[in-house]
Amino acid sequence: MLRPGCPRCGLPLTETDASWACPEHGPTPPLWRPQESTYDAFVRHLGAAAGFPTYLPWPMGPGWRVTDFGVVVQEGSVPRATMSCVSGTSVLDGPVDVLVVSEEPGTGLGARAARLASPDPRDIGEGPPVVKVRLGHGPVSLWAVSTSDADEEFDRYVMVGEAAGRWLWLVLRPASAMLLMRDEWILRDVAEVGAPLIEMPFGGPPPAW
Ligand SMILES: [Zn+2]
Repeated sequence: MLRPGCPRCGLPLTETDASWACPEHGPTPPLWRPQESTYDAFVRHLGAAAGFPTYLPWPMGPGWRVTDFGVVVQEGSVPRATMSCVSGTSVLDGPVDVLVVSEEPGTGLGARAARLASPDPRDIGEGPPVVKVRLGHGPVSLWAVSTSDADEEFDRYVMVGEAAGRWLWLVLRPASAMLLMRDEWILRDVAEVGAPLIEMPFGGPPPAW
């Protein structure tokens, strides 16, 4: 139900002796994503991501849905990253995608969502943060990442910060949706949400990224 792909580019991986390799990026733990975003697939995701947080903006706005998710993990090893995407509409922007990635340095999943060439962010910590999000009990500062080198359409707004030694990426599309960030956002580890999970809406077209 969850299918393996390269975390850095999405190409199908080849499997040899229980390890995986991308034709472009070499050996890598796979990114496991569902064919379709459903509650059952999400339960599987949480099982595969056990011990690693999967963050969602919380509470989700009316009409918003979980449209995509994934975990980077080698079978029998500890997870290296998770991603989730919620999609909805805002009055100003129309359809909006909000992607959240939490990852160990060097994984390259957030950079892919941001369309950056290098797997780790470079501009972090320069100047004041653009926003703070609340994660668990503490605030996490996020800095804007310039995507102008790679993203000619300028269709996304990318922020990144560091929490507990992991990169936390937030990618908003379209870029103008960053105005939604005026209020302090709460990101919640869905693994700890429990019962309300069953009421979360899943489905809809997954974002192209
Ligand atoms: Zn690859």
